[in-house]
Amino acid sequence: MKPVIFEQRKDQIKRKREGDEFTIACNRDSLAGAVSQRACVFCGSRVVLYPIADAVHLVHGPIGCAAYTWDIRGALSSGPELHRLSFSTDLREKDVIFGGEKKLEAALNELIDRHRPNAAFVYSTCIVGIIGDDVQAVCKRVAAAKGIPVIPVQSEGFKGNKRAGYEAACKAMMQLVGSGDTSGIPPLSINILGDFNLAGEIWIIKEYYERMGVNVVATITGDGRVADLARCHGAALNVVQCSGATMDLAKMMKDKYGIPFIRASYFGIEDMSKALYDVARFFKDKDPVAPGVPGIMERTGALVREELAELLPKLAAMKKDLAGKKAAVYVGGAFKAFSLVKCFRHLGMSVAVVGSQTGTEEDYKELAAITDEGTIIVDDANPLELSQFIKEMDVDIFVGGVKERPIAYKLGVGFCDHNHERKEALEGFKGMYNFALEVHRTVMSPVWRFTPRRRGSIAAGSGATANAAEEAAS
Ligand code: SF4
Repeated sequence: MKPVIFEQRKDQIKRKREGDEFTIACNRDSLAGAVSQRACVFCGSRVVLYPIADAVHLVHGPIGCAAYTWDIRGALSSGPELHRLSFSTDLREKDVIFGGEKKLEAALNELIDRHRPNAAFVYSTCIVGIIGDDVQAVCKRVAAAKGIPVIPVQSEGFKGNKRAGYEAACKAMMQLVGSGDTSGIPPLSINILGDFNLAGEIWIIKEYYERMGVNVVATITGDGRVADLARCHGAALNVVQCSGATMDLAKMMKDKYGIPFIRASYFGIEDMSKALYDVARFFKDKDPVAPGVPGIMERTGALVREELAELLPKLAAMKKDLAGKKAAVYVGGAFKAFSLVKCFRHLGMSVAVVGSQTGTEEDYKELAAITDEGTIIVDDANPLELSQFIKEMDVDIFVGGVKERPIAYKLGVGFCDHNHERKEALEGFKGMYNFALEVHRTVMSPVWRFTPRRRGSIAAGSGATANAAEEAAS
């Protein structure tokens, strides 16, 4: 394959050099024809709102857009599962000519009567923006008739990049926030923002906070409920995971309700511990002190020590095999990439290529600060670039999402799914163990010795070593 880096993209790809001031171009529209790994505005909004499990999600557009909708996240619900159904108005040529408003209204009425949701979200797609359907007016009419919130999501695909979709989703959720009763919410209370409960991860994190004595008012949007969103303005603090997806909502809630926010990541040892300690520090002076009862800082310290005492010996067993191996990371938000760089260090591995779809200049500067000399840092990459970097840096594993998986396998490289489709919980201390296990199994698999890239380079017996280390760790 010929190396392909488009001239116009050269300033979005940088190699870390010690002593150089790091700059990179980012947060701009994808280059036409470059086949970006990014998705459109509609997809950005859809992935954020999808886990709200007791709402109807209706895609107003041609059926093709609905490809971004059925089970787009592995987001689990502890109750209703309406989010897992896929609805589209299936706009056709006739609707494009004469308008799709009637079809939208009929679809909403039918869906609300049939499924009795607590709210409905209506996603505008490209063609709806072009033909100019008055989605707001239809939503308003149906909301009045049916007595539930019917919320338009202004997510026409062509409006910008995936980040604009996050903003559209946050604006839509903000229409619900503030409409519920906040009585009974204790002073030590938070909302968890930007976690999507993939493989039940939010339940792991919620349990940590509850062990610390902190009440979780709303999980936004993983295992999300309309009523929780309506009353989440009663929480004392917003804890925002993921650099892009729900930061706009946190900022809007700060402006309107004065609720402060902190950023968090639940991946890896340092970031998971920091997420808990940051919340504990915030509530330190509000925690009612009783003689002989440990305060929130002590409770948090005990929790972290207990979890690490179980985790660290397990990691040590796998680290012996993985030391010196290399990884490539390409994920949606840069915040996850920071955590992954640290996770791989705990396994004795280095990250040779790292990039994201939606990172900001500040994010990339932070990535440059924590990566090793020579690491390739890339914004809004495409398959040809990623293939080239993986081959050049000769990595042992590629971490990405569903669109990156075929790239890795075609090149004969191990792959770990760290995106929203995954079915394995990777957050929390428990998730760090699952991640290590998956990386170990993949990297140490004997299958790679049969790929053209590595034929003969992995010593026979490595499969047995993998099994032995995992047995020791389990
Ligand atoms: S909204 Fe537009 S860009 Fe997005 S999937 Fe539909 S047609 Fe494609």
